[in-house]
Amino acid sequence: MDKIWEEMYAAAKAVMASRQISEFVSAGDVSAAVLSKSGRIYTGVCIDTCSTLGICAERNAIFNMITNGENEIARVLCIPPVEGKGAPCGACRELMVQLMPKSYKDIEIMLDYSKGTVITLGEITPEWWIDY
Ligand SMILES: [Zn+2]
Repeated sequence: MDKIWEEMYAAAKAVMASRQISEFVSAGDVSAAVLSKSGRIYTGVCIDTCSTLGICAERNAIFNMITNGENEIARVLCIPPVEGKGAPCGACRELMVQLMPKSYKDIEIMLDYSKGTVITLGEITPEWWIDY
């Protein structure tokens, strides 16, 4: 595993902190780090609400990247609450496809950090409705 994955894991781990914010909102059970094409790392945590207003850690990290003026993702890493596979959900895959319709298949996803398993978004998201 290369050093960048380790830096992404450390960045995601640093913001991972399960907490109850109010009786309706909790956050931090899952954290994620996104590596932009420029080489910067952006993080996000999941935010869960009682009425579907929440967001996955991956999309939160991607929105953080966009907030900071970047638009292209190179890598995504997610730390799930229980060690194991951290594949992005359908909504997060959909966002990545729409952000990078011509190159989303090249985005690298850390599928299982404990095993160092990396897969591309194209491999886990074939035959999407947007396809160039
Ligand atoms: Zn998701």
